[in-house]
Amino acid sequence: MSNVNHHPLLKVDNLVKYFSITKGILFSKQIGAVKAVDDISFTIAPGETLGLVGESGCGKSTVGRVILGLTKATSGSVFFEGKDIQALSKHELRELRKDMQIIFQDPYASLNPRMTVREIIAEPLEIHKIVDHKDFDRRIDKLLDVVGLDSSLKRRFPHEFSGGQRQRIGIARALAVNPKFIVCDEPVSALDVSIQAQVVNLLQDLQEEFGLTYLFIAHDLSVIKHISNRVAVMYLGKIVELADKDQLYNNPQHPYTQALLSAIPVPNPEVRSNRIILNGDVPSPINPPSGCRFHTRCPHVMQICKELEPEMEDKGNRHYAACHLK
Ligand code: SF4
Repeated sequence: MSNVNHHPLLKVDNLVKYFSITKGILFSKQIGAVKAVDDISFTIAPGETLGLVGESGCGKSTVGRVILGLTKATSGSVFFEGKDIQALSKHELRELRKDMQIIFQDPYASLNPRMTVREIIAEPLEIHKIVDHKDFDRRIDKLLDVVGLDSSLKRRFPHEFSGGQRQRIGIARALAVNPKFIVCDEPVSALDVSIQAQVVNLLQDLQEEFGLTYLFIAHDLSVIKHISNRVAVMYLGKIVELADKDQLYNNPQHPYTQALLSAIPVPNPEVRSNRIILNGDVPSPINPPSGCRFHTRCPHVMQICKELEPEMEDKGNRHYAACHLK
C-alpha cells in the first residue's frame, strides 16, 4: 500500500443528498428534508483505502450509495475514472457497476436465503457475462478459495454458515466481477470481535492481490485504523476532518475526532483513558444546528461556532479540519 499513486480513481465534488419529507397521500407536499449528506468532497487514489467514520445517522452509508449510483445525488458530482457517473445512461451505468461493488454490513440480510452459495456467486457472473457458463464452476471454486472457504460447501445455503463465513460469501460475490473499487459498508460491524480482524485482514490481502481500492465505512475509529491510508470523519452530513491515517490518529485537530478517538478502549488497564464524554445525542439531520453542526455537543464551543459554519482548513501535511479553534 505504500506505492499509492495520487491520481484519483474516485472524485467526489460538493456532494449533496437530501431526502424530502412529504405529507399527504393524494397531494403530497414537501414539508422538509433530511440533510443526509451536505456538501462533501474527497478523492480516493487507485489502491488506496479511505476510511469514512461517524456515528449512525451521520450520512456515511448514503455517501456509499450515491457513489455507486444506487441513489441519485441532490447536487454535486461523482467522477469514477474521470467519468461523471450521474451523466451516464442506464446502459453505461450498468457497465460501470462491474467496476464498483459493495459489501454490506449484514451478510445474512444481503444474501438470498433461498439461493445456494453457488447460485449467489453465479448471479453476477451471469448478469455481467464475465465467463462462459461452462467455466462457472471453476470460477466459483476459485473465488471461494480466495476468500478462504471450502468449495465443496457451495451447494449449501447461507443459514448453514457462521456470520464470518457469510461475510466471506458476500466478499466472493463482490469479487466475482473483477471490480476496481469496493464500498465496504460496515462490513465487520455485525461480526464477533474475534472474527472482525480475520475479515479485515482478508480484505487487506485481497486489496494487495487484486489492486483494489476501498471506501471503508465504519462507526468507530478502531476498526478502520489497520486498513485505511486516509480517514474522513463525518458528523451530521459534513466531513469535519480528513487526513492521512497517522496524522489523524496521532494529531487529531477536530474536537469530534478527539472525542471519537478517546472512546477507543485502551488495552492496558494501567493507562488511564481520558475519555471525552459528549453531551446529548446526535441532533436531527432535518434541522441541523446553526453554524458548526457540532456546537451543541462540543466541549470547546464558542459564540462564533453558533453563528458561522467553519470552512475546511488546510493544516498542512494533507490534513484538513473544519473548526474555529486555532
Ligand atoms: Fe467545537 Fe466550535 Fe470547533 Fe465546532 S467550530 S468543533 S463548536 S470549537
